[in-house]
Amino acid sequence: MKRILVTGGAGFIGSHLCERLLNEGHDVLCLDNYFTGSKTNIAHLLSNPFFELVRHDVTAPFYAEVDEIYNLACPASPVHYQYNPIKTIKTSVMGAINMLGLAKRVSAKILQASTSEVYGDPTVHPQPEEYWGNVNTIGIRSCYDEGKRCAETLFMDYHRQNSVRIKIVRIFNTYGPRMNPNDGRVVSNFIVQALRGEDITIYGNGAQTRSFQYVDDLVEGLIRMMNTDDAVTGPVNIGNPNEFTMLELAEKVLAQTGSASKIVFHPLPSDDPRQRQPKIDKAYSLLSGWQPKVQLAEGLKRTIEYFSSTLIDVISPCKKS
Ligand code: NAD
Ligand code: UDP
Repeated sequence: MKRILVTGGAGFIGSHLCERLLNEGHDVLCLDNYFTGSKTNIAHLLSNPFFELVRHDVTAPFYAEVDEIYNLACPASPVHYQYNPIKTIKTSVMGAINMLGLAKRVSAKILQASTSEVYGDPTVHPQPEEYWGNVNTIGIRSCYDEGKRCAETLFMDYHRQNSVRIKIVRIFNTYGPRMNPNDGRVVSNFIVQALRGEDITIYGNGAQTRSFQYVDDLVEGLIRMMNTDDAVTGPVNIGNPNEFTMLELAEKVLAQTGSASKIVFHPLPSDDPRQRQPKIDKAYSLLSGWQPKVQLAEGLKRTIEYFSSTLIDVISPCKKS
């Protein structure tokens, strides 16, 4: 049994990770400030004596005896990370410094939830880990993108200077049950809109692409990465290479929900990346043949079922059938 700290553990991905680590027999300490996370996400874990919940903000130092740290604390949706951009970059940078300091003090292994956003609006497609990215330093997404890039730098410097055992994972768009219905990201927005019979809001002309990964595949990749030899630091991309336009996604959501919602077009936010697709050869070779198992149709089905059963104002045929 390992003692494992999960920062951002009450969030969408964090709650799935905490659940999986508990099921594997570990002692899990979940730390969150509840900015975008919720106690509802982890309420079902509270009766487990090996699960502990701490309200804490990673921008302040934290002391605990742990063997491993998964550093997930950071809002991930553009709507939320742009709400207080100064706080967002503090969370990534000061959060990394505080968690790396903790890892150094207690000799814990530490994994950073980095992001495909470090590639910005990529000019290389698909994106390999060797690509340095195309990121605007002064735009509205910079607080998130540059914060995550700086965190990667800190991780590598703590590793080189202080021999901290680090793992950097670059996560590509991930979706699934327990996304907040007001999260603002595209998969949850489209499903919630379809189930409520509201217009499906495509930003821009819908030709931009993303590659969507189901949360269970990501959690498997995160755990395999944590369990690699100390020589493996990453960065390693974890994502599903199946790439779709936002228009294709909207059509799939409409078909799978049976919704009569209309598609409407809104202005494209600035610096919105035009394309995104991970190269995952590295993950495959370093993480014992890891590759995504849940493809979009199945992942959407499970996520639609989740929102159908948790939203109170569903009117689409899903609820009635
Ligand atoms: P989320 O918003 O659901 O979870 C983030 C969690 O961090 C929330 O519970 C939030 O309350 C907590 N948090 C935020 N600021 C904090 C702070 N200062 N101190 C303590 N807790 C804080 O988002 P998610 O999708 O679960 O993302 C988790 C991690 O994965 C994030 O670091 C995100 O950048 C990264 N990531 C996610 C995706 C994705 O598609 N979901 C893609 C790339 C990277
Ligand atoms: N998007 C959209 N409608 C929405 C929400 C998002 O068309 O209601 C678009 C957004 O402009 C982007 C893509 O979907 O091009 C993915 O957005 P998301 O916020 O999910 O993730 P990110 O842009 O960070 O990859």
